[in-house]
Amino acid sequence: MHRESASVVIVGSGMGGGSLAWGLAQRGIDVLVVERGGFLPREPQNWSPEAVFVQRRYKPSDMWLDDDEREFAPGVHYVVGGNTKVYGSSLPRLRVADFEQTQYPSGTSSAWPFAYADLEPYYQAIEELFNVHGTTGEDPSEPWRSAPYPYPALEHEPYVAETMRRLRAQGLHPSSTAMGIDLRPGGSCIRCSTCDGFPCRLGAKSDAETCALEPARATGHVRILTEAKVERIVADRSVVTAIEGTLHGEPFSIDAGAFVISAGAANSAALLLKSANDHHPAGLGNSTGLVGRNYMVHSNTHIAAVDPRRTNDVVFQKTMAINDFYRDLGDGIPGGTIQLIGKVQGSMMKTHATKVPLTVLNQMAKRSLECLVMSEDLPSPHNRVTVDSRGRIHVSWRRTNYDRHELLLARAKKILRSAGYVGIFEQRFDIALNSHMCGTAVAGLDPTTSVLDPWCRSHEIANLFVVDSSFFPSSGAQNPALTIGAQALRVAAEVDWAAAA
Ligand SMILES: Cc1cc2nc3c(=O)[nH]c(=O)nc-3n(C[C@H](O)[C@H](O)[C@H](O)COP(=O)(O)OP(=O)(O)OC[C@H]3O[C@@H](n4cnc5c(N)ncnc54)[C@H](O)[C@@H]3O)c2cc1C
Repeated sequence: MHRESASVVIVGSGMGGGSLAWGLAQRGIDVLVVERGGFLPREPQNWSPEAVFVQRRYKPSDMWLDDDEREFAPGVHYVVGGNTKVYGSSLPRLRVADFEQTQYPSGTSSAWPFAYADLEPYYQAIEELFNVHGTTGEDPSEPWRSAPYPYPALEHEPYVAETMRRLRAQGLHPSSTAMGIDLRPGGSCIRCSTCDGFPCRLGAKSDAETCALEPARATGHVRILTEAKVERIVADRSVVTAIEGTLHGEPFSIDAGAFVISAGAANSAALLLKSANDHHPAGLGNSTGLVGRNYMVHSNTHIAAVDPRRTNDVVFQKTMAINDFYRDLGDGIPGGTIQLIGKVQGSMMKTHATKVPLTVLNQMAKRSLECLVMSEDLPSPHNRVTVDSRGRIHVSWRRTNYDRHELLLARAKKILRSAGYVGIFEQRFDIALNSHMCGTAVAGLDPTTSVLDPWCRSHEIANLFVVDSSFFPSSGAQNPALTIGAQALRVAAEVDWAAAA
């Protein structure tokens, strides 16, 4: 049996775990990060659409099950840095109203147990850490900020600039996307076409390994155990005493003062549920039965908009977003965001349009602009993660608030048509495209309606924290990673005190 101990153990090295490790390192705490995956190698395949999207080189073999017991390959990456190793680095803040309750025609988006103002200093800190580039004054939905973006917004390439001109002519306010890439003076980013969805071969993407975990390890306070899958959290009535799992196939046990689960929304919930014992028969911190419930993703649709008269020669496309409809789709009710994504290549389209010849897709990709249309998924107790007796993850999920998504999608198509795009193709995200998942251990003030307190500590177990997207009481309609990181920095002091108690 491999044994270790530390002041704080963090399970998972993704956005939540990596950022927290950095926050604790600044406080001089002895931290051990336990990560089921290894380091993602820098290799030529990092930038190969064939290797990344067709052969799924960096995806695990994990299969989860839906309501009908059908297997699906989830949107997860078990490597140091977690999903951020391949993410699109779009790092916007949530908006002020996202922290408040919002009534939609078909349901309610829950209030958070703290306000935007409470998180704002940590947004600033995480933007510094992740080298976020952006600008203010363009986006009608942007929240207030106490300081400018650390770095100026990315320049739009001529094709995107022309599209923005066409959108502005319609009275819209296209704005720069807040991006985490290393375009600082002397930075290593080369603005290539293989960023969104690909690992960065140059280490120029602001992922959690590069920007948080490596600087944390450099302090000497943070260690990492890789290829170490945590299977069980061992707890008595009021405290966690150890985590157990397998390291390169051998059993391990680690004790610590405080235990932080940062395994991503589904795996964190699964771990709490799998760790049921006599004191906690429904799973750890789960006397309410809420662990695993309120699973949210986002209502997302990819659009490829084709203007046959214009060749899209853009290399780095992901520089613009449209947030005019974020809080009001013209009827006083929020719609969501429309964002450019990384330039899609024909071979990437082929993974979905399997029957269309690659030559046709390549021609189409030369004339298309790709966007993500994203609206809010609402918390519902029926949408949930459970674990079966074989330890397999099951996800029950029905779309929520989809009427708003349909309206936003229709609006997105309308403005794109007015901008000259005659052919618009869509790919609606299904249960497997769940990379923005959140909400499976919601934070709140009331222990009868939430799993965690506002600092991500279990209401029931004093030295147990869940610091990843699980804590989100509602999903908002902006990309989640910056908010996960900001909250991780916010809770670091609380974790430190719990470890010392
Ligand atoms: C293709 C893609 C593009 C994306 N683009 C964006 C974007 O542009 N902007 C944005 O904000 N978000 C984006 N996201 C989503 C973003 O990456 C996630 O929201 C974020 O990484 C979630 O952080 P987390 O800490 O909850 O989980 P993760 O970052 O996934 O980290 C979880 C970690 O826990 C580890 N782990 C899991 N189970 C165990 C276990 N039992 N034992 C030990 N370790 C374990 C995993 O290996 C992983 O390293 C994207 C995601 C994908 C896949």
